[in-house]
Amino acid sequence: MDKSQIVSLNNINMVYHTIEEETHAIKDINLNIYDGEIIGVVGPSGCGKSTLLSIIAGLIKPTSGYVKVKGQLVEKPLKNIGYMFQRDQLFEWRNILDNVVLGLEIQDKVDESVLRKAKELLSNYGLSDFLYSYPYQLSGGMRQRAALARTMILNPDLLLLDEPFSALDYQTRLAISDEVGIILRQNKKTAILVTHDIAEAISLCDSIAIMSNRPGRIKDIIDIKLSCDQEPSPIKLREAPEFRHYFNKIWKELDIHVR
Ligand code: ADP
Ligand code: MG
Repeated sequence: MDKSQIVSLNNINMVYHTIEEETHAIKDINLNIYDGEIIGVVGPSGCGKSTLLSIIAGLIKPTSGYVKVKGQLVEKPLKNIGYMFQRDQLFEWRNILDNVVLGLEIQDKVDESVLRKAKELLSNYGLSDFLYSYPYQLSGGMRQRAALARTMILNPDLLLLDEPFSALDYQTRLAISDEVGIILRQNKKTAILVTHDIAEAISLCDSIAIMSNRPGRIKDIIDIKLSCDQEPSPIKLREAPEFRHYFNKIWKELDIHVR
Protein backbone atom coordinates (compact mmCIF):
# COMPACT_ATOMS: atom_id res chain seq x y z
CA MET A 1 0.00 0.00 0.00
CA ASP A 2 1.27 3.45 -0.85
CA LYS A 3 1.89 5.66 2.12
CA SER A 4 0.17 8.99 2.08
CA GLN A 5 2.11 12.16 1.71
CA ILE A 6 2.17 14.30 4.84
CA VAL A 7 4.49 17.15 3.82
CA SER A 8 5.55 18.40 0.42
CA LEU A 9 7.99 21.24 -0.04
CA ASN A 10 7.99 22.76 -3.50
CA ASN A 11 10.82 25.00 -4.73
CA ILE A 12 11.11 26.77 -1.40
CA ASN A 13 13.32 29.86 -1.23
CA MET A 14 13.72 32.13 1.74
CA VAL A 15 15.42 35.50 1.64
CA TYR A 16 15.55 37.49 4.88
CA HIS A 17 15.71 41.26 4.60
CA THR A 18 17.09 43.43 7.34
CA ILE A 19 18.11 47.07 7.18
CA GLU A 20 21.77 46.15 6.73
CA GLU A 21 21.59 43.13 4.49
CA GLU A 22 19.78 40.50 2.53
CA THR A 23 20.33 36.86 3.51
CA HIS A 24 19.45 34.11 1.09
CA ALA A 25 18.79 31.48 3.77
CA ILE A 26 17.46 28.54 1.77
CA LYS A 27 17.41 27.80 -1.92
CA ASP A 28 15.19 25.66 -4.14
CA ILE A 29 14.19 23.09 -1.55
CA ASN A 30 12.05 20.17 -2.69
CA LEU A 31 11.22 17.39 -0.28
CA ASN A 32 8.39 14.93 0.33
CA ILE A 33 7.67 13.28 3.63
CA TYR A 34 5.31 10.32 3.94
CA ASP A 35 3.16 9.03 6.76
CA GLY A 36 5.17 7.42 9.55
CA GLU A 37 8.56 8.51 8.23
CA ILE A 38 11.25 10.12 10.30
CA ILE A 39 13.38 12.38 8.13
CA GLY A 40 16.66 13.77 9.36
CA VAL A 41 18.04 17.13 8.29
CA VAL A 42 21.74 17.75 8.78
CA GLY A 43 23.78 20.71 7.62
CA PRO A 44 26.26 23.33 8.72
CA SER A 45 25.03 25.87 11.25
CA GLY A 46 23.31 28.83 9.62
CA CYS A 47 22.29 26.86 6.53
CA GLY A 48 18.59 27.40 7.16
CA LYS A 49 17.45 24.28 9.03
CA SER A 50 15.35 26.14 11.62
CA THR A 51 14.03 28.41 8.88
CA LEU A 52 12.85 25.33 7.01
CA LEU A 53 10.93 24.03 10.04
CA SER A 54 9.31 27.44 10.61
CA ILE A 55 8.18 27.48 6.98
CA ILE A 56 6.68 23.99 7.25
CA ALA A 57 4.83 25.03 10.41
CA GLY A 58 3.43 28.10 8.66
CA LEU A 59 5.16 30.42 11.13
CA ILE A 60 6.97 32.25 8.33
CA LYS A 61 6.07 32.56 4.69
CA PRO A 62 8.69 31.54 2.13
CA THR A 63 9.86 34.18 -0.35
CA SER A 64 8.89 31.77 -3.10
CA GLY A 65 7.59 28.24 -3.37
CA TYR A 66 4.89 26.57 -1.32
CA VAL A 67 4.32 23.93 1.34
CA LYS A 68 1.50 21.44 1.55
CA VAL A 69 0.68 19.50 4.68
CA LYS A 70 -1.74 16.63 4.13
CA GLY A 71 -2.55 18.10 0.74
CA GLN A 72 -3.50 21.52 2.13
CA LEU A 73 -1.55 24.61 1.22
CA VAL A 74 0.11 26.04 4.35
CA GLU A 75 -0.90 29.70 4.63
CA LYS A 76 -1.07 30.24 8.37
CA PRO A 77 0.40 28.61 11.48
CA LEU A 78 -0.65 24.97 11.62
CA LYS A 79 -2.43 23.70 14.70
CA ASN A 80 -1.78 20.00 14.81
CA ILE A 81 2.00 20.14 14.92
CA GLY A 82 4.24 19.12 17.80
CA TYR A 83 7.54 20.84 18.50
CA MET A 84 10.62 19.98 20.44
CA PHE A 85 13.47 22.42 20.73
CA GLN A 86 16.89 22.46 22.26
CA ARG A 87 15.41 24.28 25.25
CA ASP A 88 12.45 22.39 26.67
CA GLN A 89 10.43 25.55 27.35
CA LEU A 90 8.74 24.15 30.41
CA PHE A 91 7.17 26.81 32.61
CA GLU A 92 9.14 26.97 35.84
CA TRP A 93 6.17 28.02 37.97
CA ARG A 94 3.98 25.09 36.92
CA ASN A 95 4.48 21.55 38.12
CA ILE A 96 5.21 18.81 35.58
CA LEU A 97 1.62 17.59 35.30
CA ASP A 98 0.38 21.17 34.81
CA ASN A 99 3.05 21.75 32.16
CA VAL A 100 1.94 18.64 30.27
CA VAL A 101 -1.74 19.64 30.15
CA LEU A 102 -1.04 23.29 29.35
CA GLY A 103 -1.86 23.02 25.65
CA LEU A 104 -5.24 21.44 26.37
CA GLU A 105 -5.90 23.84 29.25
CA ILE A 106 -5.58 26.73 26.81
CA GLN A 107 -8.23 25.06 24.66
CA ASP A 108 -10.34 24.54 27.81
CA LYS A 109 -10.23 20.77 27.30
CA VAL A 110 -8.83 19.52 30.60
CA ASP A 111 -11.01 16.94 32.29
CA GLU A 112 -10.51 13.72 34.26
CA SER A 113 -9.63 11.71 31.15
CA VAL A 114 -7.01 14.26 30.06
CA LEU A 115 -5.43 14.15 33.51
CA ARG A 116 -5.43 10.36 33.44
CA LYS A 117 -3.78 10.38 29.99
CA ALA A 118 -1.16 12.90 31.16
CA LYS A 119 -0.29 10.77 34.18
CA GLU A 120 -0.12 7.67 32.01
CA LEU A 121 2.26 9.36 29.52
CA LEU A 122 4.47 10.67 32.31
CA SER A 123 4.56 7.25 33.87
CA ASN A 124 5.47 5.67 30.50
CA TYR A 125 8.31 8.17 30.27
CA GLY A 126 9.57 7.26 33.73
CA LEU A 127 8.29 10.37 35.50
CA SER A 128 5.48 9.01 37.70
CA ASP A 129 7.31 10.16 40.83
CA PHE A 130 7.61 13.70 39.50
CA LEU A 131 4.03 14.66 38.60
CA TYR A 132 3.94 17.42 41.20
CA SER A 133 7.62 18.41 41.02
CA TYR A 134 8.73 21.66 39.43
CA PRO A 135 10.99 21.74 36.36
CA TYR A 136 14.03 22.90 38.36
CA GLN A 137 13.82 19.68 40.39
CA LEU A 138 14.35 17.54 37.26
CA SER A 139 17.52 16.65 35.36
CA GLY A 140 17.94 17.80 31.75
CA GLY A 141 16.93 14.41 30.39
CA MET A 142 13.83 14.25 32.61
CA ARG A 143 12.81 17.74 31.55
CA GLN A 144 13.13 16.77 27.91
CA ARG A 145 10.93 13.70 28.56
CA ALA A 146 8.33 15.96 30.22
CA ALA A 147 8.46 18.23 27.16
CA LEU A 148 7.88 15.19 24.97
CA ALA A 149 4.84 14.20 27.06
CA ARG A 150 3.48 17.74 26.66
CA THR A 151 3.89 17.41 22.88
CA MET A 152 2.54 13.85 22.58
CA ILE A 153 -0.63 14.48 24.61
CA LEU A 154 -1.81 16.74 21.78
CA ASN A 155 -1.48 13.77 19.42
CA PRO A 156 0.14 15.84 16.67
CA ASP A 157 0.06 14.69 13.04
CA LEU A 158 3.61 15.87 12.53
CA LEU A 159 6.53 16.48 14.88
CA LEU A 160 9.17 19.09 14.20
CA LEU A 161 12.26 18.43 16.28
CA ASP A 162 14.87 21.19 16.19
CA GLU A 163 18.08 19.86 17.74
CA PRO A 164 16.03 18.63 20.71
CA PHE A 165 18.89 16.79 22.40
CA SER A 166 21.81 19.10 21.78
CA ALA A 167 21.74 20.79 25.19
CA LEU A 168 22.11 17.44 26.96
CA ASP A 169 25.36 15.77 27.95
CA TYR A 170 26.48 12.87 25.78
CA GLN A 171 25.20 9.96 27.92
CA THR A 172 21.80 11.56 28.51
CA ARG A 173 21.54 12.46 24.85
CA LEU A 174 22.07 8.83 23.85
CA ALA A 175 19.50 7.56 26.34
CA ILE A 176 16.86 10.20 25.55
CA SER A 177 17.25 10.03 21.78
CA ASP A 178 16.86 6.25 22.05
CA GLU A 179 13.67 6.62 24.10
CA VAL A 180 12.22 9.29 21.86
CA GLY A 181 13.03 7.20 18.79
CA ILE A 182 11.21 4.18 20.26
CA ILE A 183 8.21 6.33 21.24
CA LEU A 184 7.96 7.88 17.76
CA ARG A 185 8.12 4.44 16.13
CA GLN A 186 5.58 2.89 18.51
CA ASN A 187 3.16 5.73 17.84
CA LYS A 188 3.92 5.68 14.08
CA LYS A 189 4.62 9.39 14.13
CA THR A 190 5.82 11.40 11.17
CA ALA A 191 8.73 13.59 12.20
CA ILE A 192 11.45 15.88 10.91
CA LEU A 193 14.56 15.79 13.06
CA VAL A 194 17.11 18.56 12.67
CA THR A 195 20.38 17.60 14.29
CA HIS A 196 24.10 18.28 14.30
CA ASP A 197 24.77 14.73 15.32
CA ILE A 198 25.30 12.45 12.31
CA ALA A 199 25.16 9.26 14.39
CA GLU A 200 21.91 10.37 16.01
CA ALA A 201 20.39 11.03 12.60
CA ILE A 202 21.46 7.65 11.20
CA SER A 203 20.16 5.73 14.21
CA LEU A 204 16.77 7.48 14.30
CA CYS A 205 15.83 8.31 10.73
CA ASP A 206 14.48 6.56 7.64
CA SER A 207 16.30 8.99 5.42
CA ILE A 208 18.56 11.99 5.83
CA ALA A 209 18.59 15.21 3.83
CA ILE A 210 22.03 16.79 3.71
CA MET A 211 22.06 20.55 3.32
CA SER A 212 24.79 22.70 1.84
CA ASN A 213 26.24 25.85 3.31
CA ARG A 214 24.03 28.93 3.04
CA PRO A 215 22.02 29.40 0.96
CA GLY A 216 20.96 25.95 2.11
CA ARG A 217 20.11 23.57 -0.69
CA ILE A 218 19.47 19.87 -0.32
CA LYS A 219 22.68 18.31 -1.63
CA ASP A 220 21.58 14.74 -1.21
CA ILE A 221 18.95 12.55 0.40
CA ILE A 222 20.23 9.25 1.76
CA ASP A 223 17.93 6.34 2.57
CA ILE A 224 19.04 4.55 5.70
CA LYS A 225 18.73 0.78 5.92
CA LEU A 226 20.36 -0.83 8.91
CA SER A 227 20.24 -4.53 9.66
CA CYS A 228 19.56 -5.56 13.21
CA ASP A 229 18.82 -9.08 14.52
CA GLN A 230 16.95 -8.05 17.62
CA GLU A 231 13.99 -5.73 18.03
CA PRO A 232 15.65 -2.58 16.71
CA SER A 233 16.13 0.50 18.86
CA PRO A 234 18.22 3.52 17.90
CA ILE A 235 21.04 2.48 20.25
CA LYS A 236 21.13 -1.10 18.92
CA LEU A 237 21.02 0.18 15.36
CA ARG A 238 24.29 2.01 15.98
CA GLU A 239 25.92 -1.44 16.01
CA ALA A 240 24.61 -2.36 12.54
CA PRO A 241 27.37 -3.21 10.05
CA GLU A 242 26.20 -0.49 7.61
CA PHE A 243 26.37 2.28 10.19
CA ARG A 244 29.97 3.30 9.54
CA HIS A 245 29.39 3.44 5.79
CA TYR A 246 26.53 5.93 6.21
CA PHE A 247 28.50 7.94 8.74
CA ASN A 248 31.47 8.35 6.39
CA LYS A 249 29.27 9.16 3.43
CA ILE A 250 27.37 11.89 5.28
CA TRP A 251 30.50 13.29 6.87
CA LYS A 252 32.14 13.63 3.43
CA GLU A 253 29.08 15.25 1.90
CA LEU A 254 28.73 17.71 4.74
CA ASP A 255 32.15 18.98 3.80
CA ILE A 256 32.78 20.80 7.04
CA HIS A 257 36.06 22.67 7.14
CA VAL A 258 37.60 23.49 10.46
CA ARG A 259 39.64 26.60 10.09
P1 ADP B 1 20.23 26.93 11.13
O1 ADP B 1 19.03 26.54 11.93
O2 ADP B 1 20.58 25.96 10.06
O3 ADP B 1 21.43 27.20 12.00
P2 ADP B 1 18.70 29.36 10.55
O4 ADP B 1 17.51 28.89 9.80
O5 ADP B 1 18.52 29.68 11.99
O6 ADP B 1 19.89 28.30 10.35
O7 ADP B 1 19.29 30.66 9.82
C1 ADP B 1 19.68 30.66 8.47
C2 ADP B 1 20.23 32.04 8.10
O8 ADP B 1 19.19 32.99 8.12
C3 ADP B 1 21.28 32.54 9.08
O9 ADP B 1 22.24 33.26 8.35
C4 ADP B 1 20.51 33.46 9.99
O10 ADP B 1 21.33 34.48 10.50
C5 ADP B 1 19.46 34.03 9.05
N1 ADP B 1 18.22 34.35 9.75
C6 ADP B 1 17.46 33.49 10.48
N2 ADP B 1 16.37 34.12 10.97
C7 ADP B 1 16.43 35.40 10.54
C8 ADP B 1 15.59 36.56 10.71
N3 ADP B 1 14.45 36.48 11.40
N4 ADP B 1 15.98 37.72 10.11
C9 ADP B 1 17.13 37.79 9.40
N5 ADP B 1 17.96 36.74 9.20
C10 ADP B 1 17.63 35.56 9.76
MG1 MG C 1 18.75 26.16 13.95
